[in-house]
Amino acid sequence: MIVLLVGPQGAGKGTVAERLSKESGLVHISTGDLLRAEAKSGSDLGKKLAAIMEAGGLVDDNLMLDILEKRLAQPDAKMGVLLDGFPRTVPQAKALNDRVIVDCVIQLTAPDEVVIARISNRWQCRNCGTIYGVDVPPKTAGICDKCQGELYQRKDDQPDAVKKRLATYYKETEPILALYTDLIKKVDASRKLDVILQDCRQALADCRNSDG
Ligand code: ADP
Repeated sequence: MIVLLVGPQGAGKGTVAERLSKESGLVHISTGDLLRAEAKSGSDLGKKLAAIMEAGGLVDDNLMLDILEKRLAQPDAKMGVLLDGFPRTVPQAKALNDRVIVDCVIQLTAPDEVVIARISNRWQCRNCGTIYGVDVPPKTAGICDKCQGELYQRKDDQPDAVKKRLATYYKETEPILALYTDLIKKVDASRKLDVILQDCRQALADCRNSDG
């Protein structure tokens, strides 16, 4: 089963994906996390990726496809995946459709002012990648509940990069939805996390049922 989570930055894709993956057994694959892991490795490729991400740009489609292909080839991906942050362009969506059958697309919607406010309160663990925010604060400020890692604010969460990323989302990513019109379940992500999660669970259940 392949489920896509699509929505603007700050809509909560990462948090929703993490929770749904625990409950459903689907493997959470975040292309942002894959890229940050490569950047953290300090490799030449990682340095290039870090510069693109910090500026709020998009990584080249072919390179992104290569990275995703490797992740999808790992054995755990056979359990089914929840894709967070991919596809992000029409060419990526077409390449994905050539390789797999997408079963369900959960579209998280939220107005710009809501997501911008959320992003400015978003903290991520440097070690395990867990995301914290107003709805899900860490027990101790600056420290990850799960692994005691250091929480930091991503450079691409600074206001100028956020505006650029949102503009790119509307221009490059939203058009992919036209490829999946029959599969889309829209969820209003401007509400509280528990209600968003409830709707996403339902969307996933509906999708499983229609799959037979
Ligand atoms: P967000 O959804 O908040 O932008 P992500 O963690 O999904 O955060 O992505 C962080 C950055 O990684 C993006 O701004 C972009 O530079 C890069 N990135 C992630 N996924 C893709 C993708 N599918 N194609 C191109 N670039 C990507």
